[in-house]
Amino acid sequence: MSELTQLQIHLATLGFYPAGPHLGMVNSARNDREVCARAICEVCGWKGLLYKPFVTSTRAYRAFSCCPRCGDCSEF
Ligand SMILES: [Zn+2]
Repeated sequence: MSELTQLQIHLATLGFYPAGPHLGMVNSARNDREVCARAICEVCGWKGLLYKPFVTSTRAYRAFSCCPRCGDCSEF
């Protein structure tokens, strides 16, 4: 099971599901995505991480960067 899959399962138990942020947070989401694209994986050194946003029905927002090569994920 990949780290991202485990993360999604964990977040689902907290009410989070994978989706872009709600209106009003679009600017921060765009910024987060750009930060991801420039980020370097702390584990394997890969440049250019994937942006993985999660939200809840109560409008909470958490964003993670995930490495496409080794699968390491970390929260912003
Ligand atoms: Zn990596």
